[in-house]
Amino acid sequence: MKFLTAVALLLVLVMLEASAQSRAEPAAATTTAAAQQITRAGTQASIVASPAHFTGQPPRIDPLWPANHDINATGDLVTFEPGAHSDWHTHPAGQYLVVESGVGLTQQWGKPVQVIRPGDVVWCPPGVKHWHGATPTTAVTILTITGTVDGKNVIWMEKVTDAQNHDH
Ligand code: MN
Repeated sequence: MKFLTAVALLLVLVMLEASAQSRAEPAAATTTAAAQQITRAGTQASIVASPAHFTGQPPRIDPLWPANHDINATGDLVTFEPGAHSDWHTHPAGQYLVVESGVGLTQQWGKPVQVIRPGDVVWCPPGVKHWHGATPTTAVTILTITGTVDGKNVIWMEKVTDAQNHDH
């Protein structure tokens, strides 16, 4: 009888242990489902923007990340040569600009041209008409973080006139 009691106790202990392990498994699976990802420098080719929407040399774009379902915004480093700038445009979900190097220009429709320098952060709200680019004599590299709606992140409009560009 003592032997049977001991066997019964052992069975209970084994079942408790198995139960504890099965409870622990979902947590372990959750922590390994998503992994940190490092995209190494030099693994994403530079591209040149379409000349259709720019004055001067079209900018070089160094893609950083695409929009995804967690953060629905693209990240790119955009470099304008002296005298080059975008056409007027809007962004359906807005855009942040962070000047990385050089000196650039940006302008909101109906407002004066603004000189932007490294460290400056510009927020362009959704639908606000604007342009951005280099100064006539200096290049500029801008980190652009642009929200997307249905895969679209920009709506292009007319060319910037010289009169608008020199309003500063
Ligand atoms: Mn923009």
